[in-house]
Amino acid sequence: MSPRLRALSLLLLAVRSACLAVATEVTWPTSLDLRAVRAPEDYLQPTVSGRLESALFGMVREDGRRFHEGVDIRPTARDAAGEALDEVRAAMDGTVAYANAVVNGPYGRYVVLTHLGAELPVYTLYAHLAALAPGVKVGAFVSRGTRLGRLGRSSAGATPITPDRAHLHFETGLILSTGFNQWYAAQPENRRSPNLHGLFNGQNLIGMDPTPLLARSRVDLLELHRKQPVAATVTLRAAKTPDFVRRHPMLAHGDTLRAAGWHVEFSWQGMPLRWTALEAGHPRLPPGRWQLVGVDPTRRDQLIRRQMLAADGRSAGELLRQNVEILLTTAR
Ligand SMILES: [Zn+2]
Repeated sequence: MSPRLRALSLLLLAVRSACLAVATEVTWPTSLDLRAVRAPEDYLQPTVSGRLESALFGMVREDGRRFHEGVDIRPTARDAAGEALDEVRAAMDGTVAYANAVVNGPYGRYVVLTHLGAELPVYTLYAHLAALAPGVKVGAFVSRGTRLGRLGRSSAGATPITPDRAHLHFETGLILSTGFNQWYAAQPENRRSPNLHGLFNGQNLIGMDPTPLLARSRVDLLELHRKQPVAATVTLRAAKTPDFVRRHPMLAHGDTLRAAGWHVEFSWQGMPLRWTALEAGHPRLPPGRWQLVGVDPTRRDQLIRRQMLAADGRSAGELLRQNVEILLTTAR
């Protein structure tokens, strides 16, 4: 067993802690009976590789070359035909932000909740559902534990999900920009593929490791976000405050009203962590729209594999460019 899986086992076998003073209450997102979980294989659904790590968050697929943005949770009950029967449930109190009942993308049928009452307004995402529950409509309030649908294997991705591999893809993270649709429409490569999911397109959702939400019954989401190490730093110019900063004021520092630009720290997977305002004339303002100003050398390989850095290990990669441009759509 790898050190990572061993840590995960310990986390799960420990009593789901309830001792934090300020925190958001969390419920396991399926009807799995947690008392039956003795080892990670009791709840993780690996890819066809069979490697348990492939069900976790991170660069866990194709020998570390492919990113997995959530955790894949296996079913525990099946009908006579072998199809999963488990319920999928809201992990925290929240609002239905998106409900996609048709199979037209890699997530298949999926639901996105936003949790504006949490320490940090994160989303949670529930993908590959067999069916959505009838009450799951955009704008509906759901309390934690509310049934969202049935666990399944829906996906229009390149590889169909076979019945034995049915799972809930559970994801949590932040929405990059309310200007995403304009950015998407402006990309020449998207001319033949309309954006079917609006702001809830996967390119506008940046995930963080959801394992702590699965391991505890209370979680401080802001603290979890702050624990993510800085891997790359960018400076950018912004005529207006980017909507990301307005929606996440707890991540901004300095005189935000007088900002002519920002010093933005990113995690290795491309999540904006901390924004520091730069006033007009500040020497750290970039000469152009934005520039990469720092990289954690110990994470260079990981950043290259994630395309946060180009193959040279010095210039910005495809994903960092994309995320910065999406973040800047509301800053002009
Ligand atoms: Zn997944």
